[in-house]
Amino acid sequence: MSDRTLLLAGNWKMNHDHLEAISAVQKLAWALEDAKLDDSHCEVVVIPPFTDIRSVQTLVQGDKLWLKYGAQDVSQHAPGAHTGEIAASFLSRLGCSFVVIGHSERRADNHETNDVVAAKIRAALSAELTPILCVGESLEQRQDKSHVEFTLGQLDDSLAGFDANDLSGLVIAYEPVWAIGTGETATAADAAEMASAIRARIGEKYGDSLAQTTRILYGGSVKADNVAEIVASADVDGALVGGASLSGPDFAALCKAAV
Ligand code: PGA
Repeated sequence: MSDRTLLLAGNWKMNHDHLEAISAVQKLAWALEDAKLDDSHCEVVVIPPFTDIRSVQTLVQGDKLWLKYGAQDVSQHAPGAHTGEIAASFLSRLGCSFVVIGHSERRADNHETNDVVAAKIRAALSAELTPILCVGESLEQRQDKSHVEFTLGQLDDSLAGFDANDLSGLVIAYEPVWAIGTGETATAADAAEMASAIRARIGEKYGDSLAQTTRILYGGSVKADNVAEIVASADVDGALVGGASLSGPDFAALCKAAV
């Protein structure tokens, strides 16, 4: 068991409008209370679409919930003439703690390169948001056994130009693309192998202290019935959960199973 706090983050992707978000967070809060979970056991984060964040903020702050929330993406730019973009400072103003950066769906659908990912991490850090940097290989790379090399390459390039001081608090999510939304989960051994390779690489590049404090999550078809095995690995500090985070009671059951 490490000293790192277990982190369970629910990435809703493009699901739930703001009214559905209110209901989902209320049900999650009730179910967590029912399960007798609080922030002494784990950190629980919901990551809704941008248009829901104000509603989630109102609920979390109004009811003094211990849940945290974040965003699924952020602009690499400062506020200004960038139509359709959302600045990091706007997200921190809304009380967001976390922002997912470099999710494989954005890398694929929006052609986000490691350079763009690095610029977004810089923007997030400058607004005191904690980035959840996503990395992970495709099925082809897993099959030809280049998965570790590829994922560490993505990590190196996404963190190019930072030093250890910049990166304190960083969260890294290992999400093999072939396991996302497919029902295929990497085995606990696959998740552990990559998490330990990522931790070793952070240690080599930024020193042992950052390596020991950086939280590394696994993501890809995590559910209540497989989460315990996955987070049992010494280097896996939690999960980034898509489908199984959409229902409040299901996500609370997953959190309960993980602690
Ligand atoms: P999934 O998504 O749990 O639905 O596989 C995980 C993710 O994309 O973060």
